[in-house]
Amino acid sequence: MQKNESVTVTIQDMGVNGEGIGRVNGYTLFIKDAVIGDVVEARVTKAKKNYGYARLMNIITPSEHRVKPVCKFARKCGGCQIQEMSYEKQLEFKQNKVLGNLERIGGFSRELLSEVFGPIIGMEKPFGYRNKAQFPFGTDKNGQPITGFYAGRTHDIIANTDCALGVGVNREILEIVLAFMKKYGVRSYDEKTGEGLIRHVLIRYGFATKEIMVCVVVNRGKAEFGNCEELDCGNRGNRGTKGLERGSVMGLRWIPHQEVLVEELARIPGMTSITVSPNPRQTNVIMGERYEVLWGQPFITDYIGAVKYQISPLSFYQVNPVQTEKLYGLAMEYADLKGEETVWDLYCGIGTISLFLAQKAGKVYGVEIVPQAVEDARRNAEINGIENAEFYVGKAEEVLPGYYQRYEKEHPHADVIVVDPPRKGCDEGLLKTMADMRPERIVYVSCDSATLARDLRYLCERGYEVKKGRVVDQFGMSVHTESIVLLSKLHTKQNIEVELEMSEMDLTAAESKATYEEIKDYVLGHTRLKVSSLYIAQVKEKCGIIKRVNYNLPKSENSRQSKCPPEKEKAIRDALEYFRMI
Ligand code: SAH
Repeated sequence: MQKNESVTVTIQDMGVNGEGIGRVNGYTLFIKDAVIGDVVEARVTKAKKNYGYARLMNIITPSEHRVKPVCKFARKCGGCQIQEMSYEKQLEFKQNKVLGNLERIGGFSRELLSEVFGPIIGMEKPFGYRNKAQFPFGTDKNGQPITGFYAGRTHDIIANTDCALGVGVNREILEIVLAFMKKYGVRSYDEKTGEGLIRHVLIRYGFATKEIMVCVVVNRGKAEFGNCEELDCGNRGNRGTKGLERGSVMGLRWIPHQEVLVEELARIPGMTSITVSPNPRQTNVIMGERYEVLWGQPFITDYIGAVKYQISPLSFYQVNPVQTEKLYGLAMEYADLKGEETVWDLYCGIGTISLFLAQKAGKVYGVEIVPQAVEDARRNAEINGIENAEFYVGKAEEVLPGYYQRYEKEHPHADVIVVDPPRKGCDEGLLKTMADMRPERIVYVSCDSATLARDLRYLCERGYEVKKGRVVDQFGMSVHTESIVLLSKLHTKQNIEVELEMSEMDLTAAESKATYEEIKDYVLGHTRLKVSSLYIAQVKEKCGIIKRVNYNLPKSENSRQSKCPPEKEKAIRDALEYFRMI
């Protein structure tokens, strides 16, 4: 195959990035925008030895799965990859993508996967679902400001204020900003020269509350203004206030004539928060490190189920609240909480999953690397009156192992561990600690099924098994997937502690004096140590109260019974004495 060669090819498969895959005489071609089932004419753009890439030139016979895109920029824009494929087929593609990775990378059999995985959970309306969008600003050929989205794999802006995945009000806001910029000659930032002012506009919308947030990211730093305090920068004392009077007393002018812009935006029904985030760095990072309120509150409020969340411009929040509720519903179901459990929620963001689970758990510990997100998490706990959630700032792979080592002697305990890591998945050290802690259940929420597969494999080699799983579509029209998996602790020969049923234990006369539960309570009350029935039985045996015969022998030769440590033995002996059993 040669570059620029034209070929006619039938699309038989799809790649992980949504591209069509066809074969010409055994040679594989990846063709962007071609849909499985299409017969297309394509021109080769890059030819390697065994495979190449080609551009879709002409659709000769459209696939039965091909649909007319809702957005006229669907093909060019980098935001959507598979808008020209029917939504049903998109869902099938995503389910296959996740299961395929679990099979190839995770080493799980198709048989097991089809047994434990339910069907993918799709959206009722796969458009207009995003509650957040960050629009880059640029300049067109005539020197006029434009905004829209980047074309695929570039930073060329396709001018479009009406993205089909976002909410309707985005357009109104962006048109106001563009008209304002034109009127006052405010320029867009230019990535190449580092000049110009307006970099991005972030818009957030609370689906449940209809509250709107606008944050304008500007190419300015505090240094340009000298001492911010002296200028009475608007960040002090106006938290939670709302009203134009507040906005108009702002000392800092981040944008020329900003009061005009603020006034126009504030008129939009539902407008709740208008902020500015200074970002003078020449980087791809969109938001600055901080933000200041120009008008209204520094946050909007939204609900997932019964839990209320305050979302500030810099905090992470799931982009599709309708599907998120379904996802968290599954997290709740998988965690199977009865009210007493200790739960760890690692990578907790603003505490979304933690607070959701805290409604039914004994205690939830959340861990998150971004300090502002943890601040949000704590405030969210407070506004919901949730008192059984505690949050730590730090890396999950440092906080949990650190905690485990500090309390190793007391057998630090977790009933359920939930993880929701970014795409790179969990650190191996963290997975090891999780396996060592031996929680009954691990719930893994993942936005990248390749790293999910890798991490599940690790955990399943250390005494866990995959029990349930679902793919939940959060990002219709794109190739991104979100999935949730329940892992359960294996009670087999890998199991270190052999658990004994009371019926298997010694129901001797001594039992009438004190039951195992009473001994456990006594020990816990007097020493804060938790002891198992097995340990009590071991100490009773040592004291000659019982003879342990068959009932608590290891269930297989490979299993090891843990031995009661000396401090616990002493505590149990004290209890036996107290109950006059010895
Ligand atoms: N569970 C949350 C957020 C999930 S996104 C929710 O559902 O809303 C992943 C989160 O992990 C982000 O908030 C990110 O800041 C955080 N994070 C990334 N690396 C981390 C690490 N090493 N340790 C702890 N948190 C991390």
